[in-house]
Amino acid sequence: MGIDKGLVWKKRTREEIEVFSESYKTFIDYAKTERLAIEYFEKLLIKAGFVSIDNYTGNEDGVFFVNRGKSLVAIKGDITKGINFVAAHVDAPRIDLRPYPLYEDSGIALGKTHYYGGVKKYQWLSLPLALVGVVVKENGEKINVCIGCDEKDPVFVLPDLLPHLDKEDKKVSEHFKADKMNVILGSIPLIGEENEAVKKNVLKLLKEKYNIDEEDFISADLELVPALKPRDVGIDAGMIGAYGHDDRICAYQAIMAFVNSEVSKDQKAAGVILFDREEIGSEGDAGAQARFYKSFVRKLLKIKGFSDAESAFDEIINKSYVISADVTTLYDPSYPDVHDKLNVAKPGYGVAIVKYTGRGGKGGASEAHAELVAKVRGVLNKNGISWQSSLFGKVDVGGGGTVAKFLAQEGFDTIDMGPGLMSMHAPFELVSKADLYETYLAFKVLMEQL
Ligand code: MN
Ligand code: MN
Repeated sequence: MGIDKGLVWKKRTREEIEVFSESYKTFIDYAKTERLAIEYFEKLLIKAGFVSIDNYTGNEDGVFFVNRGKSLVAIKGDITKGINFVAAHVDAPRIDLRPYPLYEDSGIALGKTHYYGGVKKYQWLSLPLALVGVVVKENGEKINVCIGCDEKDPVFVLPDLLPHLDKEDKKVSEHFKADKMNVILGSIPLIGEENEAVKKNVLKLLKEKYNIDEEDFISADLELVPALKPRDVGIDAGMIGAYGHDDRICAYQAIMAFVNSEVSKDQKAAGVILFDREEIGSEGDAGAQARFYKSFVRKLLKIKGFSDAESAFDEIINKSYVISADVTTLYDPSYPDVHDKLNVAKPGYGVAIVKYTGRGGKGGASEAHAELVAKVRGVLNKNGISWQSSLFGKVDVGGGGTVAKFLAQEGFDTIDMGPGLMSMHAPFELVSKADLYETYLAFKVLMEQL
């Protein structure tokens, strides 16, 4: 059954796996949105001695740039020798509030929503949700919202119909209509009011507690995410269940590998790029099709005295690699029909190399060159890292996309890698602690040695 480079549980101690797992759980509990993930990493980079590009003189060991609070790029080492990048994404499937969401119907205040990314809608019904994000007032004041993050907070719910009234013979997709996914925001009327008294009470509380007016919702990024703590899963506590593993787990592994990698100032550079918007096609100013990370490298080159930063960057790209770090599917024994057993990740067998991710006849994605796969597996083998081969299902069954193709189009030699997940895109995704740790080790040696 596939490539076997040794069970991670046999070669690493339980203690080292648990130390990394605990620190990851602290992060994933905090990083409920892409903004919170980036904020966490920015603080971590500053604490580790990295400087923002605004304060960079060319002499510091490492430098980073945070783009609009939603994406990030960081580099250390000598970029003129090339850069070993690990690139991941910090957005995750979720339920957003619509820009003008509030209404009242039959004594209940509700909010219209709009799902983001590939969700199986039924998984998000009757589930405690937290409302997290930012509201920006017209004067520019930014209000951070995190209702449902503390255990004492109220939570929100997209209610589902009781089984007694849901017996019609319908297709699954007909049971779960996006326009029926309206979140419950309140049920107590403002005493003394006649019309829309419940909605008015919700607005009164929002004003008192957060200084939010109804019109402010239009200039807000507010997301409904599972109000669930990360938990160990199984009698042996071998897995971590949490919201947002895809792909904040790789973002965390990449940042930790970057901070801990031993790359001196005169060695080939190591880098990390964290993108937003991967789940909806890498669009926009913070996604993998955006230019922020390229502008950052060109700026570094100018600071270092290159007058023609454009040509210098092209030279660097030719000497660089990108590990497109994203989660893959883990073999699910209850659904054997969708997997190719030879090419699917198994829990505990380490990081998965995903040679390509496209659909059908390999459509819609890039494929790593044999030469690069050989180089990567050489580095992993030399360092005793457990790795395996994984693809998104049988031919003509699965397929998917990552940031890989956009970086490949820029000229970077690119390969997809990451840990396997069960229940990917669900509100509570599962990962093996062994794969969590082994993937971090893989990214670290690849940053140092590719
Ligand atoms: Mn992903
Ligand atoms: Mn995804």
